[in-house]
Amino acid sequence: MTFQEFNFKDTLNQAINDAGFKEPSPVQANSIPIILEGHDIIAQAQTGTGKTAAFGLPVIQMMSGNKGVEALVIVPTRELAMQVSDELFRFGKTAGLKTATVYGGAAYNKQIERINQANIIVATPGRLQDLLKSKRITLNPSFVILDEADEMLDMGFLDEIKNIFTFLPAERQTLMFSATMPKQIKILAEQILNSPKSVTITKSERTNTDITQKFYVVADYERDDALLRLIDYKNPNKCIIFCRMKKEVDRLSSYMTSQGFKVAALHGDMEQKQREHTIRSFKQGLVEIFIATDVAARGLDVNDVSHVFNYHIPFDSESYVHRIGRTGRAGNKGEAITLVSPNELRTIKRIEKDVGTTMVSEVIPTRQEVQSRKDGDLLSKIVQTEVTPAAIDMVKTLQHDLDIVAIAHLLAAIVQKEVDVKGKDIIGLGQEEIEKLIERAKNQRGGDSGNRNRRGRGRGRGGSGGSSRGRSGDRGQRSGNRGERSGNRDRNHRQNRN
Ligand code: ADP
Ligand code: MG
Repeated sequence: MTFQEFNFKDTLNQAINDAGFKEPSPVQANSIPIILEGHDIIAQAQTGTGKTAAFGLPVIQMMSGNKGVEALVIVPTRELAMQVSDELFRFGKTAGLKTATVYGGAAYNKQIERINQANIIVATPGRLQDLLKSKRITLNPSFVILDEADEMLDMGFLDEIKNIFTFLPAERQTLMFSATMPKQIKILAEQILNSPKSVTITKSERTNTDITQKFYVVADYERDDALLRLIDYKNPNKCIIFCRMKKEVDRLSSYMTSQGFKVAALHGDMEQKQREHTIRSFKQGLVEIFIATDVAARGLDVNDVSHVFNYHIPFDSESYVHRIGRTGRAGNKGEAITLVSPNELRTIKRIEKDVGTTMVSEVIPTRQEVQSRKDGDLLSKIVQTEVTPAAIDMVKTLQHDLDIVAIAHLLAAIVQKEVDVKGKDIIGLGQEEIEKLIERAKNQRGGDSGNRNRRGRGRGRGGSGGSSRGRSGDRGQRSGNRGERSGNRDRNHRQNRN
């Protein structure tokens, strides 16, 4: 299928071309004809599958451009408001359409001025409700779009949304887009949509095949080591590390900074200016690692995030889908990596079932493995490097005192230091151990004794500490490496206290 088949006007085809879109994504191919026919729609497709254009293109196609605010898009967060309005601006500017972004924290007068000049507004629920209730603005849009509806629900905006709709004309086309479809969203859809058609991108289409999903089994105290080792090994371009709590985001940020990484923390209660600034530096590559809570990173659209790390597995499947959707965007490949403790394996199984996906277990590479890889890279870099006159001079100077082999050894020692892999040799469980645990988790499923067992373990010893200590004993020679990285023990203490 091509975009030509929609018979869009020339200005719109031009914009699609400029955006570099070659062919419609599944949610676009399915939704656009329905919207063009004038139907209400409820569409579900995974994040990163192009939902913005799925409503943006047909709505822009149908807009007259001379009627004030003709399209109203409601999104859950300010970041999304900016992202979505950027994208709609791109599609609409060739037709001379003006876009305004409406969110809390900005000055009223300027915002209202911009709304009055706009054809499309993209708004967050709080400020929009505020403007409508206080009668600072009245709106009469022909198109109303509720984007990322499940996130609205998560962020507690249902009441605002319902209230906003009391200020909108009954005669309108309403479109609802969401990555997941919780029950409350379906109920809301019945209230605000009029005989909607539904589009559901089926599981296999919905699971973004550009994202490889892996998990590693580690003891709780090994999470920091595991994370560093994996980052060392995978060498991500940009990555996002997800934590469950803000407290953990802060701790991990200072730890990663102390290890020499360029990181930035992102949590929900940051000042808007600061958040925008942080996101910009991530996009520009000044920051290579984002450490974030679920809410803070919702909807974040950065195209070249190569890896998502779940420092802890999220509590629910929907969060998992949202988290991993930050990578593998716009046709790029991505990898989602989850660290779990042995007693979290059931959660893996549950998420796999809910999401209709498979996560593959892997063993964390040993220090030796990572070292060999990096040494190999270094050797090929050395042989490929061009010799400079300054280098020749330097060797000449050194040759006054040293023979050529000694010089080579010294230089190698200097460059080799750069690729030195830190940490203990073995981190986390081996493949056989993981398989045994998975087997055990399967057998326990649903059983009464299994439940009791799990609860007891969780409370008593703080997770898997006990069992993994036993394990490193089993692994004999490997266990000797435990204390090698200085500060290791210190970190464990800190973690236990948290
Ligand atoms: P969603 O809302 O489903 O999470 P977005 O609308 O944010 O996804 O789109 C994700 C990315 O994919 C954006 O950068 C967007 O510009 C890009 N994109 C959307 N549709 C296409 C397409 N047909 N071809 C190429 N890239 C696309
Ligand atoms: Mg979206």
